Amino acid sequence: VRSERAIIASIARAFRATGRGAPGVFAGMGDDAAILRLGQSLWAVSTDACVEGAHFLSGLHAPEDSGYKALARSVSDLAAVGATPRYFLMNLAVPPARTGAWLRRFTAGMARAARFLDMHLIGGDTTAAPQHAPVSANLCVLGEIQGGRPVLRCGARPGDILFLSGVAGAAQLGLELVRRNLHRRARYRNLLRRHLHPEPRIALGQWLAQHKLATAMIDTSDGLSTDLFNLCSAGRVGAEIDLARLTKPRVPAELLRKKFSPEEMALHGGDDYELLFAVRAEYSARIPARFKGVPLTTIGRITAGSVIRVREGGKLRTLLPRGWDPFR
Ligand SMILES: [Mg+2]
Repeated sequence: VRSERAIIASIARAFRATGRGAPGVFAGMGDDAAILRLGQSLWAVSTDACVEGAHFLSGLHAPEDSGYKALARSVSDLAAVGATPRYFLMNLAVPPARTGAWLRRFTAGMARAARFLDMHLIGGDTTAAPQHAPVSANLCVLGEIQGGRPVLRCGARPGDILFLSGVAGAAQLGLELVRRNLHRRARYRNLLRRHLHPEPRIALGQWLAQHKLATAMIDTSDGLSTDLFNLCSAGRVGAEIDLARLTKPRVPAELLRKKFSPEEMALHGGDDYELLFAVRAEYSARIPARFKGVPLTTIGRITAGSVIRVREGGKLRTLLPRGWDPFR
């Protein structure tokens, strides 16, 4: 099996009879978070793997940064359904040699994220990994839906306007600097910020859920082309976006000469943890140009059918999902 999508589909087939339709399940597999009805309230639950070598690189990333990011990226899935982050559990497998200073720094970074995101660790499990195995710190996060209704991936309809928060591709720019070992240069420090310290758009997600303004929403974790593809396939719709309208990272001239492409980063770069959402055309004027300092940009619209197109230099071309896929 060669794609994450195919693997998820095969897992879903094995559990066909469970999940959907079970009592208390408001939304099951296939969204950013599952939504459960517990008593009078709705809760969002999501889990994320964080594996050394795949999600962070110990030679290049400080343990504090890896710990911060592990929690921030998990919480982004709560933001993507409009939930308020509350609690998390951590499932940690760590080789004995890393249980000292490394783990202290990793958990200090995660604790900083927990304070910033107002999350409380309520339990988990720890186990010793084999000597040379990578560290893995898998998190389960829980958030509460406060008023309004959770926003799922599947509600977009043709004619809806597509919005994206923040700068598309900003995190990819930081990753490319790290990969090319340019990240220690002081003048690029600011360009690394989104890669090292993503800020899940919690307040924006809550506001959209409470005002029932978004018909569909997803966080951009795998890259705009892939996340837009996932939002569109969940709603059985297509989309048309305009490359010129995307807010792209500002790349210094000397990096442009090194083949850093703001357009490629904006379309396919992963790890941004911004919110991509659709709004009925008649309500789109209610979306402000900035929300708590974060720019919100109209990037296109939802169309009938299933094709996703991007307008580039006056021409429309098909946009394939070429973002992050761990199995490719
Ligand atoms: Mg997500």
